Parts: sequence; C-alpha cells; structure tokens
Amino acid sequence: MKISQRDFEQVRERAGRVCEYCGVSEIDSGGLLTVDHFQPRASSGSDALDNLVYACFQCNNYKNAYWTGKTALADIWNPRTDPASTHFVELEDGRLLALTPVGSRTIEVLRLNRPPLVDYRRVKQRNRARDAVLARIIEVIRLRRQAERERSQAMKDQTDLLKELRDILAAQDMIETTEAPMLSADRALSIAQADAIQAYRDLSLYRIRLELEPDGWHVDYEPKDPKVKGGGPHDVIDRFTGAIVSRRYEQ
Ligand SMILES: [Zn+2]
Repeated sequence: MKISQRDFEQVRERAGRVCEYCGVSEIDSGGLLTVDHFQPRASSGSDALDNLVYACFQCNNYKNAYWTGKTALADIWNPRTDPASTHFVELEDGRLLALTPVGSRTIEVLRLNRPPLVDYRRVKQRNRARDAVLARIIEVIRLRRQAERERSQAMKDQTDLLKELRDILAAQDMIETTEAPMLSADRALSIAQADAIQAYRDLSLYRIRLELEPDGWHVDYEPKDPKVKGGGPHDVIDRFTGAIVSRRYEQ
C-alpha cells in the first residue's frame, strides 16, 4: 500500500524538502525525493509518520538493500529519534566523521561519504563561507551609514546650538544697547557746577567729592578749611537723565 499524498507532503515539509540522511535537497537533485520506511514494510514497519523518512533515491536504495538483505535491527541512524549531530560531524574536506558505532555503520551502509556527496558538502561549505562574508560586508555598510547619519545629526545639533547661542547673545546686545547710556562723571560734575555757581560765587574754597550711588551721582562740595562754617551744595544727579534729583545748600 502506497502512503497517502497527504502523508507524503507532511513528511516532505517536515524534512524541509531535503534528504534526511544525506542532506541533498530537492532543488539540488532536480525533483521530488522519496519516502523511506525506516523499518521496512517487509519487516513489519508501519506507515505511521514516525516511521517515515524523506530520503533521496541513493540513500533509500542503499538502506533498503542493507536492511532486507542482512538484518532486521535498527542499528543504523534513525533521523526520527536522533539529531545528526549525535552520530556525525562534518569535516572541512566535506567528509562525515562518525562519532558513534551507529554513525559509523550508517556512513558505511548509506555510503554517506560517496564522492559526489563529499563534493556537494564542500560546495555548500564554500557557499556558507561566502554568505558569511557577504553578510559581514552588508553589516559594515549598514554600520557606516548609521555612523554617517549620527555624525550629520551631531553636526546639525551643534549648528542649532550655536545658532541658539548667537540668538541669546544678540538678544543680550539688544538689551544693553536699548538701555539708556549712563551719564559720565565729567558730565555729572559740570551739571552740579553750573547749578552751584549760581548760589556760590567762589567754589575754589571747596573740595569736590563725587560718588556714584544707587539713586544717582552724589556731588558734594566740602570746605577745604575745616574751620569754615557751613558747606557747599550737595547735589544728587540722575545717572541717566542728568536731572538734579535733590539739591541742598549749607551756606
Ligand atoms: Zn540522501
């Protein structure tokens, strides 16, 4: 009895469309592979999924001849129960090395080191190495692009920051320039003097003291001779407008 189409597809997809014994794919072999009964029907093997293995013609033939001709014992590798890595390791030259007696017998019976298969593994190895190099190149290009993006973003941030700084400085300048210029000490003195000269004919007797206070320029005339009674005028002059804010005579 042939297994159903549904089971065939299930076995095929489960195997990833490659021979579960040797790894040759449908694409590489140019067509569908076969379904092998791990325990042959002739030796009471069932059609249950756990007795079915997707296998290429070569592996299927070698295995079938072995089993039916020599023994009924499952002393070769069963892909349904063990991963390949339990029994084999692939060498750089494409050959399989057995790790267990089961592996060793399987290599022998299924001819898993047949020359075309060894060549096939080497081609696959080269392809994998080439893919790894390509992936690395793509990664380097991606990282470089990312670095460029980050650098240009950093430069943009810096430009924005400088612009912000310039704006702040410009605003500061504007505040300073719009503030009224302060009256110079000379100017304050001549305003006080022009005012005082009207009340005091002779200001040569006085010593002038000039100080800038929060309320304006303080111009004080003090007598040079401490014995002289009274004092000169005391003026407070607005530090910006030059207006006389207060005036006091002591003569
Ligand atoms: Zn095969």
